[in-house]
Amino acid sequence: MDIACPYCQGAVLWDAATAGQSVSCPHCSGLFTMPNMQSVPQAIPQAVQQPQPGPQGQVVGGAPVQPGYGGGYYPPAPPKSEVLAAILSFLWVGLGQVYAGEVVIGLLLMFVAPGAIAVIAVFTFGFGLILFPVYWIGGIWHAYVCAANANRRATGMR
Ligand SMILES: [Zn+2]
Repeated sequence: MDIACPYCQGAVLWDAATAGQSVSCPHCSGLFTMPNMQSVPQAIPQAVQQPQPGPQGQVVGGAPVQPGYGGGYYPPAPPKSEVLAAILSFLWVGLGQVYAGEVVIGLLLMFVAPGAIAVIAVFTFGFGLILFPVYWIGGIWHAYVCAANANRRATGMR
């Protein structure tokens, strides 16, 4: 079995004949006392234990490791359905955008845009109502794109 030189940490062959005696390191020629048989078995569990706290410390402090886990957990959590976003905006333009994470745009489309179209319609003697199908179909399409973009961003985070 080998022991580590206290000076250069080089492996030194442990020999019962020299146990307890002062020996010279073959690597750095440093003089040190060859441990006894009793201390050698102790030294080995220590040497085994020391690497363990290392990995454990990495796992515990391994919040750095968790981002790896977290990265794997992100996509399952909020994968947006483009179709569901489109259906939601079919029912109420803007709802799909909110679902896709575009909350501000979604709320504007849900509450502000219809009012704006109504005002325009009033001032254009109803002619502005032609905007409504554009708003509606465009909102459905936009919700679909928003959901696709949200998925692309979530994928990019991995
Ligand atoms: Zn040495």
